[in-house]
Amino acid sequence: MNKLAIPSPVITTIPIHGSEEVFPVRRVYCIGRNYADHVIEMGNDPKESPIFFQKNTDNVDTSGKFPYPPQSNDVHHELELVMALKSGGSNISEVDAYKHIYGFAVGLDMTRRDLQAVAKKGGKPWEVGKAFERSAPMGTLTRIEESGNMDSGKITLTVNGDVKQDGDLNQIIWKIPRMIAHLSTFYDITAGDIVMTGTPAGVGPVVKGDKLVGTIDKLSPLEVIVI
Ligand code: MN
Repeated sequence: MNKLAIPSPVITTIPIHGSEEVFPVRRVYCIGRNYADHVIEMGNDPKESPIFFQKNTDNVDTSGKFPYPPQSNDVHHELELVMALKSGGSNISEVDAYKHIYGFAVGLDMTRRDLQAVAKKGGKPWEVGKAFERSAPMGTLTRIEESGNMDSGKITLTVNGDVKQDGDLNQIIWKIPRMIAHLSTFYDITAGDIVMTGTPAGVGPVVKGDKLVGTIDKLSPLEVIVI
């Protein structure tokens, strides 16, 4: 390989429960509109298909701190189940989907809702609303051997101790095998890819000083302070 002209960019990693190893992140896929009650609260039709978008790999942050980003006055929390893939392919069948999963984590899809709304209205891309610095706070990964398939279980977010989002993974519209199968019709999904699987109802704004605690049954909780 040729000598690098500048220092190599840092690889983004996620800690793994009970392990000294860390999980290297390649891509961050996100699914929107995947819980009917959240689709309705955003004014959309739950009969329409969920949608896909991406965040940048280096938006993933495991520091437990979320710096309030510039260019927005309406940053929202979206608590999500995150799956991490140990292998992949294209045109994966739903039957084969689970064998590509390494594990699961609790994540937050932080969103500049005001910028997203402007983009939506203008039929423009969502990146400025979704893919910004440290916009994907992430907890510790639990291997699927420990967590099981995560097709049901409580998913809850508190802000300063008050319950704001409270759902169940069994409310997900496109189940995990379908998400993987469908994504793999558009992309060559690969080891290191993570998928943020959508948020239940109750999204809302955060302000500096807020303490967010996200919990999903069987997974390590995620605690994040807004700074
Ligand atoms: Mn989301």
